[in-house]
Amino acid sequence: MKPLAAMVAAEHEQIVYCHDKASGLKAIIAIHDTTLGPALGGCRIWPYKNEDEALFDVLRLSKGMTYKNAAAGLNLGGGKAVIIADPREKSEAMMRAFGRFIQSLNGRYITAEDVNTTTQDMIYIRDETRFVAGLPEEIGGSGNPSPFTAMGTFEGIRAAVLHRLGANSLQGLTVAVQGLGNVGGSLCGMLHKAGAKLIVSDLSEERVATMVKQYNAVPVSLEEILSVEADVFAPCALGASVNDESIENFKVSVIAGAANNVLLDEQKHALRLKEKNILYAPDYIINAGGVINVYYEVIDRYRRESVTQKVKEIHKTLMDVFRISDEENIPTPMASARFSECRIETIGQVHRTYLK
Ligand code: NAD
Repeated sequence: MKPLAAMVAAEHEQIVYCHDKASGLKAIIAIHDTTLGPALGGCRIWPYKNEDEALFDVLRLSKGMTYKNAAAGLNLGGGKAVIIADPREKSEAMMRAFGRFIQSLNGRYITAEDVNTTTQDMIYIRDETRFVAGLPEEIGGSGNPSPFTAMGTFEGIRAAVLHRLGANSLQGLTVAVQGLGNVGGSLCGMLHKAGAKLIVSDLSEERVATMVKQYNAVPVSLEEILSVEADVFAPCALGASVNDESIENFKVSVIAGAANNVLLDEQKHALRLKEKNILYAPDYIINAGGVINVYYEVIDRYRRESVTQKVKEIHKTLMDVFRISDEENIPTPMASARFSECRIETIGQVHRTYLK
């Protein structure tokens, strides 16, 4: 599809194509919607096979950020950027050239880390523009977002078990955690402290051993974690853990974890989970702790207390989403889309009415 037609079809505001001969930068910045504020979303470096593939990805990801930022209650729109390159080819010059393009947008787009970009890349970008987030704490940034993502996921699990099982506490419940990295590891600590029993799985034997030792977790194989009997399955590894094959084997009441794109086919698998009476906490709502952390770096002087307070609101947001899902008899991902659209629409209306 031609870029302008693709942009109109996905209802984007702006697409910026960037090229810098000296550094070899080839990038696309997509701004989906700025009703709520500047478009914020990370920059991904990926060796896309062709331009169409890169365009498709950036349009999809930037739209996702509009919904994520809106649902998290942030005054931010949705945007994303992709740099078309082998990540091994990235350089200071490339990141700084990218920073110059961001600066030319004068604050309409704010970038941050994503797949294959690091804190160091953000530091290079900051040499050219202040519209960048995800910087280290030592230079005034918000630092590692993972503990906040884990905190939001924990709140989301609490909300889901309250809604589905009527349980006010996690005491004695069993949670199967898939992936024990930055987020999954912290989450296990929080769940253990709240009295939950843990079943865990990871590619890394060392990470599994740590959880067994620290939290008395029961280790299982990469396959078994998808079919163990538990109250909650918490996917914290890669996406697509809910697919045609796994979906029929789950023996849980709730699926709630930090991983992005948990459902391989959102429409189909959300519907099937609903049929099976498994409550699914939509990924971009439950894993918003990281973007909330970055938000406070962008808008104001960074305060951990403000971040914590906002991250804990994920509990209420999810309860609202579950209520919409029940009232309208629609799967939870569709309910969360309604939730986001409603906020964008009403705040947009307020702006049009009072802030001309
Ligand atoms: P990470 O790379 O630190 O950890 C991922 C872990 O999953 C690793 O330990 C890896 O060995 C394990 N893993 C990979 N494949 C597996 C499999 N098939 N079975 C079991 N374990 C497997 O990543 P992270 O930062 O902890 O993020 C986890 C997920 O949460 C990712 O999907 C990420 O996109 C999402 N997420 C993270 C953040 C954040 O702040 N870090 C924010 C939003 C979303």
